[in-house]
Amino acid sequence: MDCVLALDQGTTSSRAILFDPQGPIMDLEQKEFPQHFPRPGWVEHDPRDIWNSQREVALAVLGRMDGDSSRIRGMGISNQRETTVVWDRRTGEPVYNAIVWQDRRTANLCDQLRAEGHEDTIREKTGLLLDPYLAGTKIRWILDNVADVRRRAERGELAFGTVDCWLVWNLTGGRVHVTDASNASRTLLFNIHTGEWDDDLLAVLDIPRDLLPEVRSCSEVYGESPELGNIPIAGMAGDQQAALFGQTCFEPGMAKNTYGTGCFLLMNTGDTPAVSRHNLLTTIAWQIGGHTEYALEGSVFVGGAVVQWLRDGLGIIGSAGESERLAASVEDSGGVVLVPAFTGLGAPHWDPYARGAMLGITRGTTAAHIARAGLESIAFQVGDLLEVMNRDSGITLDELRVDGGASQNDLLLQIQADLLNVPVVRPKMIETTAFGAACLAGLATGVWRDRKELNDVWQSERRFEPKMEDDLRKRMQRQWSRALERSRHWIDSREGSDA
Ligand code: ADP
Repeated sequence: MDCVLALDQGTTSSRAILFDPQGPIMDLEQKEFPQHFPRPGWVEHDPRDIWNSQREVALAVLGRMDGDSSRIRGMGISNQRETTVVWDRRTGEPVYNAIVWQDRRTANLCDQLRAEGHEDTIREKTGLLLDPYLAGTKIRWILDNVADVRRRAERGELAFGTVDCWLVWNLTGGRVHVTDASNASRTLLFNIHTGEWDDDLLAVLDIPRDLLPEVRSCSEVYGESPELGNIPIAGMAGDQQAALFGQTCFEPGMAKNTYGTGCFLLMNTGDTPAVSRHNLLTTIAWQIGGHTEYALEGSVFVGGAVVQWLRDGLGIIGSAGESERLAASVEDSGGVVLVPAFTGLGAPHWDPYARGAMLGITRGTTAAHIARAGLESIAFQVGDLLEVMNRDSGITLDELRVDGGASQNDLLLQIQADLLNVPVVRPKMIETTAFGAACLAGLATGVWRDRKELNDVWQSERRFEPKMEDDLRKRMQRQWSRALERSRHWIDSREGSDA
């Protein structure tokens, strides 16, 4: 029987997952790789670690197929987004470590570009904000700070790529230098309306065009990998877009939220690049067969990480899973509201000076109330995102599809459904990111004929219906908003170096 291989290259590990066309996982291999924190706020990976770990896990899965790897019809890639690599086209050697999406070193450059009045143009053309998170200023940093790199770039000797592009380069033995539209749309250099690299943006960021890969669709054959049995590389998307695809959110108005360390909410807005008036990002969801579809995206920094803090910081639970039992031992949070603005607030507030707060504590407050307030805080933050997303898109959601580590928590999902007043649906296959990459590759290689067939593969495991009274929901929402307000602008911007 045919199957499809997904390479899921994440921030802390590389994984290879083999999918049966009916959806089940046939095999999985995972390998962590080192993180480097050379200075406060800096995060790097060795690009060779990214590639070697990804190659190893893929070879391990192929090795277990007893020489039958010709059954693999295609290979799809989903990747940590925005992480930036520059390498020598002749030797394939990186000129510097990969600068990871979390890295804040270009904050000053972003401030400077904002002061020069470039943010509106960037926003209009790319759908993004000027933030160090995105790839463009990371490329510029490498050009400006690594010896001889600018001169070599101008002579056409170097290549830039996000992790998708770096993997394809290595998989094809340096023959193919391509990225896909979803990853390109996270660089600050790509015009999401014309679907091309934008000369004005390249000039603003002072980046030579010769560095850039060719931009291709998310589902087509880009090349083959000699080392991996000549399997066609046939699909690519950034991890969040891949998850939206893997959740089969194909229609405008369908949305998914991933509850990992942070939370990522993406809503399909169809052919329209919806403009956000509330600081959400507009991004390319995918481009398939010459047709581009868009998404609105919002992220919160601290999602499942609240539960880690309950475990490691407060020590009131022994494992993440225990948060559910402890929080379920009380009926409500007893009036406690926890705002986990540990590293500031992300969308839609974007307040780097906010810090965490816990309000409403009384003599009766117990660890269980705090655990419950912790789970509620994840749901409140996702609720704030969805509220502005509804306003920006003019679309009201029918259901929210969920995935990620913390989506195993039934109580969290019930609280989420109650606070949103929208059903929350958890699929049987929770490896949605890898599955999305497999789907994109499988569509290009005829494993699945069309999206309708994929809709039949996606199955709900459990649906959480909202059942909270309106009055209570509104009261809780008001309390949350008041607590959130108190956490804002907490630290003085002049002492903001830790922001
Ligand atoms: P990432 O991809 O960001 O590393 P994962 O999708 O692996 O994240 O999810 C890990 C997060 O999920 C952690 O922050 C952890 O605290 C949280 N988590 C895992 N299991 C549970 C659970 N049963 N209840 C609540 N949170 C959980």
